[in-house]
Amino acid sequence: METSRRPEWLKIKVNVGKSLEVTDMLRSLGLNTVCEAANCPNKVECFTKKTATFMILGSNCTRNCTFCNVEKHETTPVDPQEPENIADAIEKMGMKHVVITSVTRDDLSDGGSNQFAAVIQKIKVQNKKVTVEVLIPDFQGDHKSLLNVIKAHPEIINHNIETVPRLYSEVRPMAIYERSLKLLASVKKEDETIITKSGIMVGLGETYDEVMEVFRELRSVDCDVLTIGQYLAPSKEHHEVVEYIHPEQFALYKEKALELGFKYVASAPFVRSSYNAFEAMDSLKQ
Ligand code: SF4
Ligand code: SF4
Repeated sequence: METSRRPEWLKIKVNVGKSLEVTDMLRSLGLNTVCEAANCPNKVECFTKKTATFMILGSNCTRNCTFCNVEKHETTPVDPQEPENIADAIEKMGMKHVVITSVTRDDLSDGGSNQFAAVIQKIKVQNKKVTVEVLIPDFQGDHKSLLNVIKAHPEIINHNIETVPRLYSEVRPMAIYERSLKLLASVKKEDETIITKSGIMVGLGETYDEVMEVFRELRSVDCDVLTIGQYLAPSKEHHEVVEYIHPEQFALYKEKALELGFKYVASAPFVRSSYNAFEAMDSLKQ
């Protein structure tokens, strides 16, 4: 890790205290979270606030993104108990808004989309007031798989664009920038009531102009919500941090993104796509 070089604004003190209750409950239900798998810097804060991002379809991914801490070993069978376990955990945690994501399952014919749908449906049956946000993979561009998720009608569909197109080959080698944009466009085309969301990490070597171009292209497909956060390398084996972006630059990105018409923008060093997702949802409902 590169923590010793970190600027002051990226040094945080944590007090694990109450967050351990959530960690224990998740273990007892055998649930994975991206908070733990990605070693998210906000884990203690989020768990203390009784919020988490559930990661379905196992803990091993079929892709090889160089920024990501998720394991890349053999995948596991889809767990039919998972929708119920997640709905139970949401109830126990008293969550009002939940984020569900997954590893990418290119090995499954539906990309895991039916499991996404089953989880959304189970949550909505069991917890009628809970709003659901899904952070989905690209399903290799398969429209039928995307439709499975859309038809389950989550309030928000998020698909992260992650970085600028020039860096895809080194950061997301198995993804295609245009395919990700098309997915976001398709969601709006199929159901304009669903809020669309995307996110980008900065500090990977992108330029200001390239970031602006991504913002414009996301708006061209009517993306509603945008998150921008500092990339932090999980280990020396991962993609290096090329630059620590100053908080003032994050503020500028936010201003520019709002000018382009995004309805909600979170932009700060520790922002992750699910950070304060409840607050974002709440402000969009008003
Ligand atoms: Fe989990 Fe998202 Fe919070 Fe990180 S920001 S700990 S991924 S809920
Ligand atoms: Fe990580 Fe998602 Fe890439 Fe898989 S597809 S390696 S989970 S970022």
